[in-house]
Amino acid sequence: MEVGRFAPSPSGRMHLGNLFCSLLAWLSARSAGGRVVLRIEDLDPLRCPRAFADEIERDLGWLGLFWDEGGSLGGPRGPYYQQERTALYAKACGLLAGRGLAYPCFCSRAQLHAASAPHREDGAPVYPGTCRALTEAGRAERAKTRPPALRLMVPNETVAFTDGHLGRYAENLASDCGDFILRRSDGVHAYQLAVVLDDAAMGVTQVVRGADLLSSTPRQIYLYRLLGLPVPRFYHLPLLTDAEGRRLSKRDGDVSLERLRQKYTPEEVVGRLAFLAGLQPAPAPRTAQSLVEGFAWEKVPREDVRIPKGLF
Ligand code: GLU
Repeated sequence: MEVGRFAPSPSGRMHLGNLFCSLLAWLSARSAGGRVVLRIEDLDPLRCPRAFADEIERDLGWLGLFWDEGGSLGGPRGPYYQQERTALYAKACGLLAGRGLAYPCFCSRAQLHAASAPHREDGAPVYPGTCRALTEAGRAERAKTRPPALRLMVPNETVAFTDGHLGRYAENLASDCGDFILRRSDGVHAYQLAVVLDDAAMGVTQVVRGADLLSSTPRQIYLYRLLGLPVPRFYHLPLLTDAEGRRLSKRDGDVSLERLRQKYTPEEVVGRLAFLAGLQPAPAPRTAQSLVEGFAWEKVPREDVRIPKGLF
């Protein structure tokens, strides 16, 4: 049985991009007769209060995107809030460190950004490996002044995969990405680790998300392999842009759900999203359920999708 998921980060209200992604994740799973899990990605407790997660649930329900397990609904593979799953993440960190694959890193954010190292496609610096070579004594010395982050050592290896929507994608772990963080110095576990452990533990077979996460996927596949976990199928979605071609962000208050709910019915929002997704020729009102039968990945565009002026 196919299992899809919603994996929202409740650091604010959902915006159009999140809705677009949620609708397509739901349609992809439902059209395959599959189940949908809701996992709340609230790893950073300061940024993700529970009230925001509850609001996301209400917004998904308003759109008619019902899930089978997870969130406040609970279920057999819970808990479904990442804040409550830290024991699992800590165990994996211990395992990887024990195998000599992860090491403490004392570099500050300022040091990392000051380094003239090459930058990844997403703008983050490729870690130059500064703390990889520290001796035990050097680590102990540094630990007196600063709690370390934990970093995963990556080999000079290319990870390639075929995205269900965008096709083949490959990255060299060493040169394109570099050793990456598993746990921050403040003890918060990293998204890259948590998402892999959780999708595996929750039986997820298909991951549908924005193309901004495409370049995270080789790192995640590498982790799946290291941990001996089954790799799901990935479908990355084009990103939505405004009429001028700028990518949407949470700062765009005019497209937050709060505004949308005042202005439109759920069917009007879903119909417009379905139009942007190539699932219908005009932005006519639709229920999410009515789109299941006609859903096919081939209809969905692969390039960024411009939202015409006045559509929302
Ligand atoms: N929590 C992430 C977000 O809201 C999504 C992560 C994922 O789908 O893998 O952007």
